[in-house]
Order: sequence, then C-alpha cells, then structure tokens
Amino acid sequence: MEHPDKNVVLYFTPSLPCDKCARATNVGYFTQWNAGMQVECWEHGYVDFVAREERPTQYEITEKYNSIVRFVIGKKDGYGSCIVIGAFPLDSVPGYTEQSEREYFDSDEEYIQQATGMEPIAHLVRYEDEEGSTTEFYAVWSIIWHEFTLYGDNNSRESE
Ligand SMILES: [Zn+2]
Repeated sequence: MEHPDKNVVLYFTPSLPCDKCARATNVGYFTQWNAGMQVECWEHGYVDFVAREERPTQYEITEKYNSIVRFVIGKKDGYGSCIVIGAFPLDSVPGYTEQSEREYFDSDEEYIQQATGMEPIAHLVRYEDEEGSTTEFYAVWSIIWHEFTLYGDNNSRESE
C-alpha cells in the first residue's frame, strides 16, 4: 500500500498478525516514522503520529487516545470501558522507577546511550469495569521496548 500524505489509522478485517508478537489485530497505521503500514496489537501499538514538540491535530489526538484505550481494554481481556484523562508526569506514576527501564540493559552506559531522548510516555486513564466501579490506571509507553505497561493504583507494577 502506498504511503498516504497524512497520518492515518486503518481498521480492517480480516485481522492481520501484529508486527511484533503476531497477536491478531484489526488496526494498522501510517505515520511519519515508518515507510510502510505498521500493524500492531493493543500491547504494541501506540499511535504516536507526531514528534513531541509538534502540535497534533484533533484526529491525531483522538487516534492516539484510541490506541491507549485499546491497550487498557486489552489488558482487561476486552471487558469494561476506558477514557484517557490526559498525559501524566512519568516520575509521578505510582510504582514506576527508571530502574524498570534500565534493568533491560547490560550497563548504565548502554542504557544512557540508547535511552537518550527516549524516555517513556505516561497517560492517566479511568477504567470502568462491567459492574460500574472505576479505577485510575497509568498506561506507560516505552519507546525502547515498543510496548505498553499498565501501572495500577496499588503502587506496584501490575502482574501479567
Ligand atoms: Zn503485539
């Protein structure tokens, strides 16, 4: 497929395997970052269209938030509903430490080299389960791992 002029998300059937983990997904997108269409599942698909210093369009914000919602609902096995409240300071996310990124590198030097300018991005979300009770979670997108992690309100990283 030709790369379109603008950033765009496509929803399609039948599903295709995620580029990273082969989980079936119905979402693909074109961004300025990649030449072809990225096909990524709810865990590996953060639709980040523009550089952080650029001003996104309403469409771009909506699709970014949709990708965060897909992740949270995916973590909840498809149940419940979720809204994105907004971006959240990473160092205020309960349970998040820089160490949780750093532990994946052999040395501090390697981490610093790879992580410069690639600090994760956090969003605060409000999840409502099927009984109607709400919980606030933090969806953290790691640029280095290229995946989301859900942080809960219990000051610990939610187990898989
Ligand atoms: Zn995946």
